[in-house]
Amino acid sequence: MVKAIVGANWGDEGKGKITDVMAAQSDIVIRFQGGSNAGHTIINNYGKFALHQLPSGVFYRHITNIIGNGVALSVENFIKEIKSLEERGVPAPNVMVSNRAQIVMPYHVELDSMEEARLSSKSFGSTKSGIAPFYSDKYAKIGFQINDLYDDEASLRDRIAHVLDLKNVLYEHLYHREPLSVDAVYEKLMEYKALITPYVADTFSYLHQAVKEGKTILLEGQLGTLKDPDFGIYPMVTSSSTLAGYGAVGAGIPPYEIRQIVAVVKAYSSAVGAGEFVSEIFGPEADELRRRGGDGGEYGATTGRPRRMGWMDLVASRYGVQVQGATHVALTVMDVLGYLDEIPVCVAYELDGKRIDSFPPTAQLKRCKPVWETLPGWKCDIRGIKRYEDLPENARRYVEFVEERLGVPVWIVSNGPAREDIIYRDCE
Ligand code: GDP
Repeated sequence: MVKAIVGANWGDEGKGKITDVMAAQSDIVIRFQGGSNAGHTIINNYGKFALHQLPSGVFYRHITNIIGNGVALSVENFIKEIKSLEERGVPAPNVMVSNRAQIVMPYHVELDSMEEARLSSKSFGSTKSGIAPFYSDKYAKIGFQINDLYDDEASLRDRIAHVLDLKNVLYEHLYHREPLSVDAVYEKLMEYKALITPYVADTFSYLHQAVKEGKTILLEGQLGTLKDPDFGIYPMVTSSSTLAGYGAVGAGIPPYEIRQIVAVVKAYSSAVGAGEFVSEIFGPEADELRRRGGDGGEYGATTGRPRRMGWMDLVASRYGVQVQGATHVALTVMDVLGYLDEIPVCVAYELDGKRIDSFPPTAQLKRCKPVWETLPGWKCDIRGIKRYEDLPENARRYVEFVEERLGVPVWIVSNGPAREDIIYRDCE
């Protein structure tokens, strides 16, 4: 059985925690897109961790964790992350890297930073991890797959020279920097080869067999629907698809094998980087929600920068859930809302004086204003509650209001950052 856990919003919905919980009953956890530009936060017996590239199954010895072919692999960060787990007492995880995964090159990271600096106030708010230049090169067919590291030296040097002809035009003439040399890039790739070799595998064949044997496989998405390059708030999106369906491509699994798609939806909204955000709030109202949000405030897991805050946007979330093809919803950070007398929820948009219920593309989204409804708060701490029927009536009312408008059953209510802060509802 293949399951996917994906974000329905702008990312940071709490996918890490839900994956960590669901991983316990899984054999394999796979990252199928993205790179070290985003982070999942996991809190467990070993402490609090921000995982950037590693799949969230690394805390369980019985799980095989796979970096799929769709991932932007930073070899340096990958090794650093594994080391940091070991330093904090986590037993060495079982990790495989697809021999078709592509490598984030040092010049991708530099180009990302130089381009953000050049764009200045018009920048995309990139985490400067090299993700956009990486995926551009992948589709321009000038990237390096892991298996290229094992090619003969002459062929590899030839390919590097071809790539540098293009890169050095940018280095010298757009960014006014020293050109890159074939020798330096070749040496770097050989360093990467030595570091990554213990993890490299033919993950396609491994997964093909695992599916045949009926293993439980979790596809773990990064970011959320609204950051998808096709269905998100283009161009303020990420560079690889954030959709469950892409899990089939980014890991090499038959699409029809994905039977359960859990879309993680946040009980309020947060976003990082620039882009349309209709239900955004500002000032002291936003500051308070940011301060109380998540586990220790809403600040980027990778960059530490404050996240933009908003109330729940049911137009965006319904669209987010639909685009993912969600079979189930996990509604997270419900506990955070316990301080409010009343909870505003965006139930529709007003576009050019008309009320709309569907999520429009960017050019129209820019002109949308939120239509609010207010639900009564529950004014207490709901952490520690284990059964849905034990939640205060107004908390249940909130869940059921959201569920009705999303059109997909809310299966999980997350009422705290820890593994055990979780309530399951009967909705199989
Ligand atoms: P991800 O990228 O989707 O995994 O999201 P993050 O790692 O940014 O998670 C958001 C933050 O919320 C993290 O600090 C989590 O520890 C925290 N978190 C997850 N679920 C809950 C929850 O139900 N309640 C609270 N208070 N925090 C949560």
